[in-house]
Amino acid sequence: MRLDEKVVLITGAARGQGAAAVRACVAEGARVYAADVRDDLGKACADELGDAAEYVHLDVSSEQDWADAVARIGRIDVLVNNAGVLHFGAVADTTLADYERVIRVNQIGTFLGMRAVVPVMREAGGGSIVNVSSIEGLAAAPYLVAYAASKFAIRGMTKVAAVELGEHGIRVNSVHPGMIDTDMVRDAAGGAEIDLTPVGRKVALRRVGRPDEIAGLVVFLASDESSYCTGAEFVADGGATATHALNLA
Ligand code: NAD
Repeated sequence: MRLDEKVVLITGAARGQGAAAVRACVAEGARVYAADVRDDLGKACADELGDAAEYVHLDVSSEQDWADAVARIGRIDVLVNNAGVLHFGAVADTTLADYERVIRVNQIGTFLGMRAVVPVMREAGGGSIVNVSSIEGLAAAPYLVAYAASKFAIRGMTKVAAVELGEHGIRVNSVHPGMIDTDMVRDAAGGAEIDLTPVGRKVALRRVGRPDEIAGLVVFLASDESSYCTGAEFVADGGATATHALNLA
C-alpha cells in the first residue's frame, strides 16, 4: 500500500477534512495519530479504525502539547498541519481577540507543528510535512482578513521550511482547498444551516468539494509518489482560482 510503514500525525482530525485524511491514510497502510481538541469526537473517529489509528489530545497553539505529543509518538514520517478555525468579519469590525485567535491556531499552530517534528524527521533521515492552507492563501475574499492572513502565512512558511529542510530529506508542501462541505463554514456562521450549493455553482466543476477529495491529495503528498515535490502549492478547488472577477459568465 502507498503508506505502508509510515507514521502519520494529523491535526484537526476529529471531523471534516482531518477525519477524512485519517481514514484515507489508514486505508493506505499508515499508522495514524489523530490529534484534536474535541476529545470525544476525535476518540470516536480513531476507535472506528481499530489499532491503525490512535487519538492524541493536541491543541496546536500549545508548545507543551506539541512537546508531549512528539515525545509520546516517537518517529513521525508525515505531519499534516490541518487544524484550522474560520472567522468572518469586515476589516473594520474584526476585534483583536478574534484576529489573534485565528492566527494562534492556523498560523502559529502550523509553525509550532513544523518546529516540533524537525528533530525526529532529521533523525529518521527525512519526512513529509503537509500544511493545509486554502484558496484564501492564494487570493482574497471579503470578510476574511484574519483567516486570509493566516493562510497566506502558511503558504510562505511552507516555502521557507522547504528551502531549509530539503537537505535533510524533509519535504514541505501546502494544500489549497476551495469550498469543501464540512461544518467549518456553518460554525463560523454561528451554527446556522447553510446551503452551499449556490457557492458551488460558481466554480468550473459546478459544485463544492468533499473532504475525501482533499484527503487524496494528502495521501499523495504523504507518500513517496511525491518524492520530488517540495515548496509547492497543491490546489483542489473545482477551478475556483482558474478565473478572475472580470470573467463574463
Ligand atoms: P472543521 O472545522 O470541520 O475541522 C477543523 C478541526 O480542527 C476540528 O476538528 C477542530 O476541533 C480542530 N481544531 C480547531 N482548533 C484546534 C486546535 N487549537 N488544536 C487542534 N485542533 C483544533 O474544518 P475543515 O473544513 O475540515 O478544515 C480543515 C482545514 O482545511 C482547516 O485548516 C481549514 O482552514 C482548511 N480549509 C477548509 C476549507 C473548507 O471549505 N472547509 C477550505 C479551505 C481550507
